[in-house]
Amino acid sequence: MQQKAARIALAGGATPENIAAMVADAHARAEFLIEQTAETVELPPRACCAGCAYCCHLWVVVPIAEVVLIALRARAANDGAADVQAKLERRVAEVRGLTAEQRSRTRVPCLWLDPTEQTCRIYGLRPLVCRGWHSFDLEKCKQAHRHPTQNIETAIWSPQRTITESVAAGMLAATQQLGLPGGYVHLVEGLQIALGDPAAIERWLAGEDVFRPAAVSAEQAAAACAAC
Ligand code: SF4
Ligand code: SF4
Repeated sequence: MQQKAARIALAGGATPENIAAMVADAHARAEFLIEQTAETVELPPRACCAGCAYCCHLWVVVPIAEVVLIALRARAANDGAADVQAKLERRVAEVRGLTAEQRSRTRVPCLWLDPTEQTCRIYGLRPLVCRGWHSFDLEKCKQAHRHPTQNIETAIWSPQRTITESVAAGMLAATQQLGLPGGYVHLVEGLQIALGDPAAIERWLAGEDVFRPAAVSAEQAAAACAAC
């Protein structure tokens, strides 16, 4: 269903703004489906709240289209400047050379996490993978954060995760059907590419595999999931 909606959003062509509109539509759809699904069941109280951010220390893997949306908005807000680029480069350097497993156990704060408030500075633009989080047990999130090698299972509501994953997969399939290269990428590396080269998005839309250095293999994506 999301694939069809994404194709409609891209009917006017694969332009940066159409890609951004497709992603915004996918986010709205995911939120709607989550709300609708939550109404059909009786759920325990949600543990998530503003200022709780253990889940913002995980590995963020997204379809390239979500990188495009954040990069376009950052550029429009003049937030793609040297300071942001330097932060992106520092973070990429921190994880360079780590195996997928080592990386998935590295609990570093997301670059968009406000260090004081512990809230997301791009909340309205946050990727689907972030929208998939919903936990019933804060203590489990805390323990999983503190003991990354112990594979502590968090008490997430899996239907929410399933919805966001399916919407992301539909969106990705739509861009691939248009002939746009690549699949899932690391958010930080993807943004480093998108903001570091003013022509990167246009080159990707022209069919060039510019986001390849940020690509996540199936094994890496599985390791990232195992860490959540
Ligand atoms: S998923 Fe866990 S860490 Fe994230 S906001 Fe909810 S309770 Fe907090
Ligand atoms: S983008 Fe926002 S919600 Fe997602 S991990 Fe980063 S700070 Fe958290």
